[in-house]
Amino acid sequence: MDQELNGFRNEVRGWLAANLPQGWRDRMVGADSTTFVAFQREWFATIAAAGYATPHWEKGWTGGGRSLAEQVVIFVEMARADAPRLLLHFISLYHAAMTISHWGTVEQKKQHLPAILQGSVWCQGFSEPNAGSDLASLRTQAVRRGDVYIVNGQKIWSTMGQYADWCLLLVRTSNEGPKQSGITYLLMDMKSKGVTPRPIKQITGDEEFNEVFLENVEVPVENRLGGEGKAGRLLRRPCLPSAG
Ligand SMILES: Cc1cc2nc3c(=O)[nH]c(=O)nc-3n(C[C@H](O)[C@H](O)[C@H](O)COP(=O)(O)OP(=O)(O)OC[C@H]3O[C@@H](n4cnc5c(N)ncnc54)[C@H](O)[C@@H]3O)c2cc1C
Repeated sequence: MDQELNGFRNEVRGWLAANLPQGWRDRMVGADSTTFVAFQREWFATIAAAGYATPHWEKGWTGGGRSLAEQVVIFVEMARADAPRLLLHFISLYHAAMTISHWGTVEQKKQHLPAILQGSVWCQGFSEPNAGSDLASLRTQAVRRGDVYIVNGQKIWSTMGQYADWCLLLVRTSNEGPKQSGITYLLMDMKSKGVTPRPIKQITGDEEFNEVFLENVEVPVENRLGGEGKAGRLLRRPCLPSAG
């Protein structure tokens, strides 16, 4: 087993030696957002094609089905080689893929999992100005009208939200009962009318996080993940994306 793992380690090292973008750190220090995003997309495409972006996905997906020990090898070797982190795609590959894979409908999986591998960017719309650690206090409201939810409210700290195609969005659909029970999980297209991400400039000059303002945003009911008011269940269960 140790021998097998060492063989895999050598494979990853060899791949990194051949594929690591030379001088990337110097080029990225102080780079503008267009350069940063283009570089992240390019690196993601390279690493995804090699299968090293999705070792935690199930067997059947490119690079999927790796053991935990092999996943650790990839992370350690990437760090040792000072490879760029997948900042732009992290939420897509982990939070979005895992959650949709386990809880999504067949259609949601078909729509989103291959798209994530092709580079679609996700952000997370959980935190609000008055709902951080105490997430169940969130107040962004969704009211059902026929086949859509009408969403109004504000999110904060959405990492990479200004570049995202889709958002994992938690909304309140009921004020009845305990506050944990009226929360619903939606998959929101960031290009929807009424969605306005506003980057937060940090003291470093970086704009990694966003406020996201939501004004009468229409989210189709078919984009709901799990049942109405059932987001709590979805947040508790770790899982792996299954292939196909
Ligand atoms: C790097 C980073 C990336 C993030 N990305 C995202 C993202 O993409 N999307 C998203 O939705 N959120 C994101 N977050 C937000 C994060 O997940 C938390 O929700 C948020 O940081 C905590 O909320 P807050 O900042 O309002 O702090 P608060 O909840 O106000 O907490 C402030 C302090 O008070 C303490 N505290 C709070 N409640 C209690 C209590 N009852 N008793 C004792 N102490 C308490 C906390 O431990 C903390 O030290 C990100 C955060 C970080 C650091």
